Amino acid sequence: MARYTGPSCRLCRREGAKLFLKGARCNSEKCAFERRPFIPGDHGSARGFRKRLSDYGIHLREKQKVRRIYGILEKQFRKYFKMAAKKSGVTGENLLQFLETRLDNVVYRMGFAPSRKSSRQIIRHGHIRVNGRKVNIPSFLVHPEDEIEIKEKSRQLPIIQEAIEATTEVGSIEWFEVEKDNFKGKILSIPSREQIPLDIDERLIVEYYSK
Ligand code: SF4
Repeated sequence: MARYTGPSCRLCRREGAKLFLKGARCNSEKCAFERRPFIPGDHGSARGFRKRLSDYGIHLREKQKVRRIYGILEKQFRKYFKMAAKKSGVTGENLLQFLETRLDNVVYRMGFAPSRKSSRQIIRHGHIRVNGRKVNIPSFLVHPEDEIEIKEKSRQLPIIQEAIEATTEVGSIEWFEVEKDNFKGKILSIPSREQIPLDIDERLIVEYYSK
């Protein structure tokens, strides 16, 4: 699966917002967004983040921001949008629900990984079980009643221990429960929009793809 391999902090600076892509570092003074608060590139420092955007630019930036937060490439993101548009309900909310219920996001939200990027690595290396079966696909979509667990043999691995220790607070999450000491969690429901702690306007994304 193709994925973005460039510097994560550059993405925050490009979007003019902290996207929290690097775990504990994001809340430290080392955060590149705090130290260099301007768009990367030759003329970035002169422009700061105040560059005037066209209507198209506003829609594009909101889409890019969400895509980068979840670490998804354009082709796959567009696929999620099509799935969301086909499903009954509000397309923007459907889209965020698909993104939130990806296994890599769930493992991150549960505090078993400091970032979605680390979460993907942990999953790909086969350290995660869903309902007792190994799942090594980060895009796997979870459902209510699914039980997510770190494989017993993997619990003492440095990558797992460091991930748990480096976990940052993400906010109150009501759609799953976690037993961190037992390295497992359970999905209680599909999250509503209010239960998804993202400061974005998903209607702009729907409008972007509907033009
Ligand atoms: Fe973004 Fe985190 Fe890098 Fe700060 S440290 S710029 S929040 S990825």
